[in-house]
Amino acid sequence: MSARNATHDPSLRSWVESANQPDSDFPIQNLPFAVFRRAASAEPFRGGVAIGDQILDLAALHEARVLRAGAAGEAAPALAAEALAACSRSTLNSFMALGTDAWSALRAELSRLLSVTGTAAQHALVPQSAAEYSVPARIGDYTDFYASIHHATAVGALFRPDNPLLPNYKWVPIGYHGRSSSIRISGQEFRRPRGQIKPSGTEDPQLLPTRRLDYELEVGVFIGTGNALGAPIGIDDAERNVFGLCLLNDWSARDVQAWEYQPLGPFLAKNFATTISPWIVTLEALAPYRTAWTRSAGDPQPLAYLDSPRLRQSGGLDMQLEAAIETQQMRAAGQAPQRLSRSNFKHSYWSIAQLVAHHTVNGCNLEPGDLLGSGTQSGPTPQEAGSLLELTVGGKQPLTLESGETRTFLADGDRLILKGWCEKAGHPRIGFGEVSGTVLPSGS
Ligand code: CA
Repeated sequence: MSARNATHDPSLRSWVESANQPDSDFPIQNLPFAVFRRAASAEPFRGGVAIGDQILDLAALHEARVLRAGAAGEAAPALAAEALAACSRSTLNSFMALGTDAWSALRAELSRLLSVTGTAAQHALVPQSAAEYSVPARIGDYTDFYASIHHATAVGALFRPDNPLLPNYKWVPIGYHGRSSSIRISGQEFRRPRGQIKPSGTEDPQLLPTRRLDYELEVGVFIGTGNALGAPIGIDDAERNVFGLCLLNDWSARDVQAWEYQPLGPFLAKNFATTISPWIVTLEALAPYRTAWTRSAGDPQPLAYLDSPRLRQSGGLDMQLEAAIETQQMRAAGQAPQRLSRSNFKHSYWSIAQLVAHHTVNGCNLEPGDLLGSGTQSGPTPQEAGSLLELTVGGKQPLTLESGETRTFLADGDRLILKGWCEKAGHPRIGFGEVSGTVLPSGS
């Protein structure tokens, strides 16, 4: 849990004028990382930092030797220069592996460069509108959790009306090992998957294109340093091992899921596509938006390895989340995407630190660039649900869109957009940008 420092100063302004607009996702206090290149070019992908509507090209900055020239002999800038060199590669794994001191040193230098007029960084800007992105790390392993009790209860009620929330839920952060090979960056287009489905009223299952294709509104957690096999990460060390957060859409085929999920959990209903946003917002940037983590007195309190005074003080995060849809018809008519729901990560039953501590308590090793999904972040009211499964009560209550169309689940041509941001009076807005993905017709 990062302390606040000069990079959080709300009065900081950048010479990149678009970063000073109050509605910008990327003010100088944010400085999130992505991997990018100019769109449709043969340039190598390399690290970049968002500033207003621009990207600071970290490979170009590294080649210009700006940090080294300006700061000979000082320890922190030397670490920043090492971090900058790592960011010029096509994935951020080696940068993530350097750890919090290096991430923080580079952030401090970038903040200084971008807040001073006329620096050598001006030549290293690329407009975001001219860029394309790639998955920012080589994701060795991907684990999806189930950390919203509101989602778990609502979904449980649909799949098991008599027994919605299983008794282990309030004790153990539930998760499953997902599939990293099908994780793609925002803008992903994928074919409606086929799967084994048993329509109600039929005797036997059939292989069919899914009829209940859904999205899940999640927060992605990129692991930074990680741990050696056999060496658990304690709750108060957990966040030092987290590089930052992104937005994550865990596309889900509900009819496949309903037939396959017992006894071992999700499998082909989940691993055909997962889409993440390009920008990773560091935990350091999110320091002003940390909240107390609480567990109501009527619920079991966490076991000791999942609890600490620091967690109670600042383990939560006030991060607003939103899902929107753009149908093919809306796109053709030039209509803007329509919001489906809003939620907030502060409602999560389990915190980021608890997910990391629990994942490693048995000695399981996390590695730089590993990705954790938070699970669908539904809020306490039905309107704050993070999936169509919940918003349409299992497909029984169709939504009527402003275009006049109705939806229970996603139709071919639908584009789904997730956004996230933090804002409160007296602090700059820290945005996550967006993640979008489009459903194509089944290939069969
Ligand atoms: Ca999920």
